[in-house]
Amino acid sequence: MEKLANYIGGELLPPVSGQYLDNWEPARGIVYSQIPDSDERDVEMAVTAAKSAFDKWSSMSPEARFLIFDRLTTLLERDLSILANAESRDNGKPITLARTVDIPRAIANFRFYATAAMHTSSDSYLTSLPDGTKALNYTLRQPIGIAGCISPWNLPLYLFTWKIAPALAAGCTVVAKPSEITPMTAFLLSKLCMEAGVPPGVLNIIHGTGPKVGSAIVVNENIPAITFTGGTATGREIARLAAPRFKKLSLELGGKNPNIIFSDCDYEQMLDTTVKSSFSNQGEICLCGSRIFIERPIYERFKEDFIEKVRNLRVGDPADAVTDVGAIVSKQHYDKIMSCIDRAVGEGGSILYGGSGVVPSGSSDGSALSGYFIQPTIIEGLPADCKTNQEEIFGPVVTIMPFDSEDEVVALANCVPYGLSATIWTQNLSRAHRISHKIEAGIIWINCWMLRDLRTPFGGMKESGLGREGGFHALNFFTEEKNVCVKL
Ligand code: NDP
Repeated sequence: MEKLANYIGGELLPPVSGQYLDNWEPARGIVYSQIPDSDERDVEMAVTAAKSAFDKWSSMSPEARFLIFDRLTTLLERDLSILANAESRDNGKPITLARTVDIPRAIANFRFYATAAMHTSSDSYLTSLPDGTKALNYTLRQPIGIAGCISPWNLPLYLFTWKIAPALAAGCTVVAKPSEITPMTAFLLSKLCMEAGVPPGVLNIIHGTGPKVGSAIVVNENIPAITFTGGTATGREIARLAAPRFKKLSLELGGKNPNIIFSDCDYEQMLDTTVKSSFSNQGEICLCGSRIFIERPIYERFKEDFIEKVRNLRVGDPADAVTDVGAIVSKQHYDKIMSCIDRAVGEGGSILYGGSGVVPSGSSDGSALSGYFIQPTIIEGLPADCKTNQEEIFGPVVTIMPFDSEDEVVALANCVPYGLSATIWTQNLSRAHRISHKIEAGIIWINCWMLRDLRTPFGGMKESGLGREGGFHALNFFTEEKNVCVKL
C-alpha cells in the first residue's frame, strides 16, 4: 500500500515516529494509502529547514520567485488530470468538480500571487512640522518569517494553495499541514515542487493530525504567523494558543449562510444556482447556502420546482463524469450529518426530499460503492432559532423557510453566530444594495454564487473568522510593517 511522506528541506521523509495513519477512500469505505503520523519532532525539523531557507528566499526578487512559481504551475497544469483524479478519490468529490474547479483554482492561486507580488509598493509620507522640520517616512513591508498554514479537507489543494501561495510570494518560508483526511494532493504537490526546483526548505509539508502536528505548528516559537481554515471550534482553540504568544492570526471558519430569494428574481437562474449553492461538493463548501429564505408569494412554486431539480441530481461514483453528488468525506462526517438530519426531524422538521444514506449502483470500475453517500436533503417547517438552523452541518442538507418582508428576512439572516457569506436574489437593485449593507457577512453575492475575483477581500464576520484573505490582504498578512523616518 502506498505510503505518503513528509516534505522537509526539499526531501521526502518518513515520520520520526515511524508510525502511519490509514487514509480512506470515502466512496468505497476502504483504506487505500497511509500517511505519516507526524508529531512535534517532524515540525521542529521543518522549522529548522524553513529557518535556514528564509534569508535567501526572502531576499530574492519577486521576479525570481515568479519564475519558480511559473515552472510549478506548468507542472501542475501538465498533471491536472492526475491531481483531479487523486482529489476526487481522496475526498469523494465528483471528478468533474475536481477537474474544473479544485485543480484549476490551485493553479490560479500560484499564478495570481506570483504576479501580485510584483505589483506591491511601499507607502511614503512627507512630514512637515510647524518649526520647519521636514522628514520623509516610508513604510517597508518585510516578510514576517516562517508562516504556519493549516487547511481543511473540503477543497484540499484549492485551500492549501490559497494559503501557501501568498505566503511564499510575500517572501516567507512555510511549514504547512494539510488535513489528515485528504493528504494526497498536498503530497503530489511536494513532488512537483522538487521537480520545479523550489529551493529546499522554502515549503515544508507535514502530514498528521491536528492535535499533534497542527498544535505543534501553532505553539512553535519560531512561527510568528498562523493562517488557518477549518471549523470554528478548532479556530477558537488555535486563537487560545496563539494569543498569549502574540502571533499574527488569520482564521477562516464555519458558516450558516442565508440564501434570500425575492419573488421578482430571475427565477430560472435562481433555481439552477440554488441547486448548486446547496449541494455542490456534497454541501461541503463553507460558502454553501444552507438556509434558504423564500418570499411567500413564490414559496410553494419554489418548493415544487426545487424538489424536482434536486431529484434529478445524480448521486454516484465520484470517478464518473456524470455524477453530481459524490461521497461524504469520511464515516465520522457521514454519521455527524445523519445525526443532524435525525435532530432536524426531532425538532419538528419535515423532510421534503432525501434524508437518508444511499448506496449508489454501478461504479466506473465495477467495484462496490459501499462508502458514505447521503441523498441531497431538503427540510421545511423549522423555526430560525432551532439547532438545525443555528449550527453548521457542512453536508448536503438545506432548510427552506418563507418570509414576508425585507426587515424580517434581514433579521432571520443575521440571527446566527456566523457571518461568512450571503446570497440575494432580486431584480430590484436598490433593495439588493440596501440588504447587502445590513447583512452581517463578509461576502455578499447578488444574483450569483461563488463568482470569485481573487483580488477581493475574502473572510467572515462574527464566529466565521478573523481577518481577510485574497488579493493584497493575504500578501500584507504575511509581512511585517516597518516605518523608517529620515529627517531631511
Ligand atoms: P477542522 O477544524 O476539524 O480542521 C481543519 C484543520 O485543522 C485540519 O488540518 C485539522 O487537522 C487541523 N486541526 C484540528 N485540530 C487542530 C488543533 N488543535 N490545532 C491545530 N490544527 C488543528 O475542520 P475540517 O477539516 O473539518 O473542515 C471543515 C470546516 O472548515 C467547516 O467548519 C468549514 O466551514 C470550515 N471551512 C471554512 C472555510 C472558510 O473559508 N471560512 C473554507 C472551508 C472550510 P485534522 O484533519 O488532522 O483534524
